[in-house]
Amino acid sequence: MPTYILFMGAPGAGKGTQAQILREEFGLPQVASGDLFRDNLKRMTPLGQHARTFMDKGELVPDDVTIDMIRQRLREADAAQGAVLDGFPRTIAQAEGLDKLLAEFGGKVNVALYLNVRESVLLERLSGRWVCRGPQQHTYHLVFNPPKAPGQCDVCGAELYQREDDQAEVQARRIKVFMEQTAPLIKFYTGRGQLIRIDGEQPVARVTAEMRAAVQNALSQ
Ligand code: AMP
Repeated sequence: MPTYILFMGAPGAGKGTQAQILREEFGLPQVASGDLFRDNLKRMTPLGQHARTFMDKGELVPDDVTIDMIRQRLREADAAQGAVLDGFPRTIAQAEGLDKLLAEFGGKVNVALYLNVRESVLLERLSGRWVCRGPQQHTYHLVFNPPKAPGQCDVCGAELYQREDDQAEVQARRIKVFMEQTAPLIKFYTGRGQLIRIDGEQPVARVTAEMRAAVQNALSQ
């Protein structure tokens, strides 16, 4: 039976950072809806152009389009044993869509990890965030995790850039959208006994250790 692990948290909570560290460990591909949209945007596909109108404003891309994109991605061969879903689902409708989708693959959500971070800390993190243009999109923070050479990724040497939707007004909107549309999922997965809440303000290594333990525990059941 395939395994599906959800990474949930507001923008800036550290989902991407943790997914990068843990991605090798679970032997599952990381499927990040935001990365898939950005990739479509870069390739100028119709999906990317459609998504852009929402992304630029910090709004969510409509559910049907998002669910279809995830369905296609999960059908790819590397996801046959499951996936780590990062940034999806983000609405109750997406979570319900995901249940149907995973049933098609004979699986279900095994565990939903929620990284809890206060809003003031999220804003601080997002405003200093720089991302590398390399395929792995390593992330840095000007103050908390600066690169060794300015503007260059320590790992792959690629150029660093600031995401367009990390601008101040869009950041605030993304966090508000999270509170309104995504936070209800915390209750949804708690009610099903699948949610593990992790304090995302702890040091990165501590967060990783707690996430690892939660996943191991969920998979052993
Ligand atoms: P992220 O990289 O996860 O912060 O996502 C960047 C942007 O992509 C979001 O602000 C949304 O516009 C869009 N997006 C990513 N994931 C989803 C999703 N599950 N549902 C709708 N829109 C999404």
